[in-house]
Amino acid sequence: MQRRELFRRLSFLTLTGGAVSLTLPASAKRPAAASDPNPPAPLKRDLFKELGIRTFINAAGTYTAMTGSLMHDYVVETIQDSSIQFCMLDEVQDKVGEKIATLVHSEAAVVTSGAFSAMTLGLAGILTGMDQKKVEQLPHLESTDMKSEVIIQKAHEIVYNHALKNTGCKLIYVETREQLEAAISEKTALLHFLNIEADKGQIKHEEWIAIGRKHGIPTSIDIAADVPPVSNLWKFNDMGFSFVAISGGKAIRGPQSAGLLMGKKEIVAAARLSMPPRGFNIGRGFKVNKEEVLGMYVALESYIHQDHDREWRQWEAATAVIHQAVKPIKGVTAEIKVPLLGNITPTLHIGWDPQTVKLTGADLQQRMRNGEPSIEVGDVQEKHIAVTVWMLKPGQEKIVAARLREELTRAAT
Ligand SMILES: *Cc1c(COP(=O)(O)O)cnc(C)c1O
Repeated sequence: MQRRELFRRLSFLTLTGGAVSLTLPASAKRPAAASDPNPPAPLKRDLFKELGIRTFINAAGTYTAMTGSLMHDYVVETIQDSSIQFCMLDEVQDKVGEKIATLVHSEAAVVTSGAFSAMTLGLAGILTGMDQKKVEQLPHLESTDMKSEVIIQKAHEIVYNHALKNTGCKLIYVETREQLEAAISEKTALLHFLNIEADKGQIKHEEWIAIGRKHGIPTSIDIAADVPPVSNLWKFNDMGFSFVAISGGKAIRGPQSAGLLMGKKEIVAAARLSMPPRGFNIGRGFKVNKEEVLGMYVALESYIHQDHDREWRQWEAATAVIHQAVKPIKGVTAEIKVPLLGNITPTLHIGWDPQTVKLTGADLQQRMRNGEPSIEVGDVQEKHIAVTVWMLKPGQEKIVAARLREELTRAAT
């Protein structure tokens, strides 16, 4: 049968019975362009090859520059399956938000474009409430009656706090409890906390929330990179933060462009006034379409229900393979550590004596990058790199182990 003939028959069948379309390749399910009712099936393209884009084994971790994490197959399937229907964006956010809120013990939730936009939107919601005029005034707070300051501990300074400035608010940094109490004024909109540096600040989570409550000021927390442990998804909602922001495309392996805003009903409802499908707001550019909203939902649900102990044992086993390969090399020291906060996964730190192993961290990074296959490593310093296995596909740990062993051995002779 000619391809065109096949297509004619298939399009007839899809008109008469939906079940048939399930057996068709995804490309055939898409409606044909109006100008050409029977376009030829597109050839399977490898755009990485076609455009000359380097792909690599990711032994570094969940870095945005390296496109974060790989979505699970069921996330990609959800995206593909949901892409063939229209629905109302607000309805999908309403229904998914309700499910997610139950999963994470918050009053409400909404899928955002990453943790960064969750922070901007949560604060926007606090500033504007349900007042549409205020939504339109952001980020110009002067000569409005909106609050204009966010207080943060100095130890919690991080580039991503810029998300809060996007609302027009000023950030006020404090160190002690006394400074915090003194900094609170009628201008204070929010007390913001950064979990990954929780051990560095003098004021801990519970005290932060208690001071907020005492002064009637909402509190928020950035936990973008803080699962595992899975319990962190609800821990800070249970603790009483007014809103919590997390990334969807790190360990959860949802869409890299997605994240979650979880929190009080009135904050999430007000935040959504600054989100698509609405415009005339600061958040119109933070668009998340239905495919990603649904993809984020299934990623989160599966993440919560997966066997975390098993995953941890797999990470340990794969890390041990690399550890064993590099440990015996003369002049090399290799140690597995687990970060206390953020990116909690076994991390193999590889250091060396530059007298014996004659290369820098940057040299090793380049050699791993230029090798076949290309491999990315993390935490590159003068005589140190680190690798993690959580972004590897099963079996890739053997390739990483062999390549590191090869390069370090060569440099040690
Ligand atoms: C990754 C990260 C962010 C940004 O998260 P996105 O989901 O990429 O927007 C914010 N804060 C911290 C601590 C992070 O690690």
